[in-house]
Amino acid sequence: MEITKELRELAKFSGGTLPVVSVYLDTQWRDQHQREQVLTFLTRHLRQARLLTLEQAEAQASLDADLARLEAWQEKLRHRTLEVTAPGYALFACNGAGLWVELPAPVPFENEFTIAERPALRQLARLDEDYTNALVVLVDSRAARVCEVVLGGLLSETAFNAEVPGRHKQGGWAQMRYQRHVKDHIDRHHKEVADYLIACLQRQPHARLILAGPEEVRANFRRFLPPAVQPQVLEAASLDLHAPETRIVEVARQVLERHEREEEQATVELLLSRAARGGLAVVGRQETLAAANTGRVHKLVMHRDLRHPGWRCTACGWLGEEAPPAACPACGGTPAAVDLGEALVARVLALDGEVELIAPDPRLAAYEGVGALLRYK
Ligand SMILES: [Zn+2]
Repeated sequence: MEITKELRELAKFSGGTLPVVSVYLDTQWRDQHQREQVLTFLTRHLRQARLLTLEQAEAQASLDADLARLEAWQEKLRHRTLEVTAPGYALFACNGAGLWVELPAPVPFENEFTIAERPALRQLARLDEDYTNALVVLVDSRAARVCEVVLGGLLSETAFNAEVPGRHKQGGWAQMRYQRHVKDHIDRHHKEVADYLIACLQRQPHARLILAGPEEVRANFRRFLPPAVQPQVLEAASLDLHAPETRIVEVARQVLERHEREEEQATVELLLSRAARGGLAVVGRQETLAAANTGRVHKLVMHRDLRHPGWRCTACGWLGEEAPPAACPACGGTPAAVDLGEALVARVLALDGEVELIAPDPRLAAYEGVGALLRYK
C-alpha cells in the first residue's frame, strides 16, 4: 500500500543540516478525553520545541516555520475545522527542504514528537510491515459472506446465496443422481464465491484470505482457488456463517496476529540457522552495524522496542554504538548521538533493505535483539 512508498521516500530524505519534525498521534477518538490528550500532548511538545535555539539561522528558520505550521494544524484540530477520521496520524515536516507529509493510518500510533536530523521511522516501518488486510470468507453449502477486514474494523461485506436443492428422501438410482445434482449446485456456488475472491485479490494482491466454515466445506471450497492463492489462505474454524460483524473482526485480528507471530518466529529461525552455519546472516549489535554501514543488509530483524545509545555521522551516515567519537572513523565528519534502533531502521530502509520489527524473542534476545539477513558477505 501507499505507506511503503512514503516510508522509502522518507528514509531517503535528507534536509542536510536542517531539522526534521516527526509527529505520530493516536487519533482513535474513543471519547472527548482522548482528543484532549492528543491536544495536550501536542501543546506541550510544541512549547518545548519553541524553546530550542539552533546554531544555524537557516535551520532555526526552517524549524520555526515547521512549528508554526504544526501549531496551525493543531488549532484546526482543536476547533474541529479539520476532522481526522483515521485511527492514527503521522506528520513529517522540514520546511527548508520542502517536506510536509501527512499520513492517515489504519491503526493508532503511540504519541511521539521528535526533532532530529532525519524522520523518525520506526512506527511507520512497523505499520508497513504488520499492516495486512484480510478477506474473511464464511462459507457453507448454500451461502457465503465475504467480509473485507482491516486492522481497524470491517470495511465491506458481500453476501452470496445459492439455490441449492434441499434434501429429500429418495432411494436407489434416483437418489444418486439427485445427490450428484446437489453436489453440482454446491460446486457452482463455491466456484462463484471463489471467482469473486480471485477478482478481489487482483485489486489487493497482498490481502490474506481467512476461510471459515465446516471442515469438509472448506476443503471443497479450496479446490476452486488457484494454486497461487493457496499460500494466502488462513483457516479459522471458529466462525459461524451468521456471526455478527464484531465477532468477525475479532477472529480476523486473532488469526492475523497469530500468523504474524508465526512468520516472525520463522524469520528468527532462518536468521539464527544461517548465522550459525556462517551463511548470509549476522546477529548481534556490532555485526549488524557493520553490515548496515556497508550496505549489505537485505532484511533487518530487530526487537521492535530496541533502544540503545549510538551515533550517526552527520556527513556520511556511518553508524556506531555507545557515545559518539570525536570524528567519524569512515570520513572524519562529525558524529551526532542517536537512538541506535531508530537509526538502524532508517539506514537499512534508505539503502533499499527491508525491516522486520518483531515482538521480543528469547532466542534473538541472546544476541542483543538484533540481526540481519545479508545480500552478500
Ligand atoms: Zn562519516
